[in-house]
Amino acid sequence: MPPLEVLKDLFFFERGYLSANHLAWRSERPVLIDTGYLTRFEETLGLLRGLGLDPARLQLIVSTHCHCDHIGGNRRLQELSGCEVALHPLGLRYQENRDDTATWWRYYGQQAEFFDCARGLVHGDAVAVGPHEFRVIHTPGHASDGLALYHAGAKLLISSDALWEADMAVVTELVEGVDALHLWLEALERLEGLDVRLVLPGHGRPFTCFHEALERARARLRRYLADRREVGRDQLRRILVYTLLMRGPLGPGELMALLQRTPWFPETIAHYFGGGQEERFRETVEALLAKGVLVREDGRLATTVKP
Ligand SMILES: [Zn+2]
Repeated sequence: MPPLEVLKDLFFFERGYLSANHLAWRSERPVLIDTGYLTRFEETLGLLRGLGLDPARLQLIVSTHCHCDHIGGNRRLQELSGCEVALHPLGLRYQENRDDTATWWRYYGQQAEFFDCARGLVHGDAVAVGPHEFRVIHTPGHASDGLALYHAGAKLLISSDALWEADMAVVTELVEGVDALHLWLEALERLEGLDVRLVLPGHGRPFTCFHEALERARARLRRYLADRREVGRDQLRRILVYTLLMRGPLGPGELMALLQRTPWFPETIAHYFGGGQEERFRETVEALLAKGVLVREDGRLATTVKP
């Protein structure tokens, strides 16, 4: 999919689920918003260079939060260019304190590298992406340091993982806290007040049905609040798929053993279901196979989700 010019010289790259979508302002001193997943760094560089942009000349990266699929290129791009990174002050502290649980990296067994941060962006701040000024909206719930960026003139919302078109990003209550669902509902309320023509989500294609997407996300959060096991079920499905995106196809036994060595898998199953790791694993795999999100390939499990 070719990059989409959403404002003058500001391009949106639609990636998949291993790497989040990201944006680049093309100029002599480029600015990026998010940088994909670490193992896809060469692909990210190729996309930027394809735009005629010199990564060694970067001046700034704005990170919408510290999850691995959004910050994967930060360290290496800093090494190339010496650019600054701006993000929410919580994310800044996670980086300074080398906190790989708050960022989810160690918790979920993901690859990522710590980077240097220059600037904290709080709710209500303005951030300049070249000539384009965005307002910063704090959107905790999915990630405590989550930010959305709003361009009032163009009615453009970069929603990152706070709002997708039809689907929703994972909830990790055991890291984000017992108030994560409520924080997310509040974040959606904050977004609701904006006049939005086009949403550029962290994953999936750009979309215009802003209010319908908000309503769908709210309905899902309410379902989660009514039955917390739904949070656990959904988390198991999403992270199992993400693990296959990171690692490639694996035999069921291999995948199960890998999950059992992570902090999140045993703790999530104990928390939501009171145990039964084997049974939950089987159930999750079967549900994903039935949906066509997983397929069997020579006795191994693979995902059909775009990396
Ligand atoms: Zn995220």
